[in-house]
Amino acid sequence: MDTYTYNCHYCGVQYTPKRRFKQKYCCNSCRVNAFTRRKRQKQNLPPVQKVNASTQIEKMSWPGIGNAAVGTLATNVVTNWLTKEENKPATKGDIQKLLVAKNQRFSLVKNMPIREDGAKPLFDNILHTIIYIK
Ligand SMILES: [Zn+2]
Repeated sequence: MDTYTYNCHYCGVQYTPKRRFKQKYCCNSCRVNAFTRRKRQKQNLPPVQKVNASTQIEKMSWPGIGNAAVGTLATNVVTNWLTKEENKPATKGDIQKLLVAKNQRFSLVKNMPIREDGAKPLFDNILHTIIYIK
């Protein structure tokens, strides 16, 4: 076993080798980082930037929430604007209107004139006939 100390080829820290042969690096992470650096140099890629963990994870902030809200709103407006009326999803209000209309027996016929005595033409949804009711 070596009793000498060596300097790590990657970070430069002094270390005592723990293996029989001479190690080049102080720890596995330095060995891996050195390999990555060599590989990137071979491919002419820029070296990996060490990013501070506090800047990498964006903390929740009011401006961030505002930006997200504005983005969602803009997306909704554009989607609403681009969607045809018949393709828009039905709301609970639409369904309730539909149910009320279905449960009504008579509905006013708009393209028929009102009779001389003032009776309005109504369509009977059950008998499927037009009747006049004053
Ligand atoms: Zn090292």
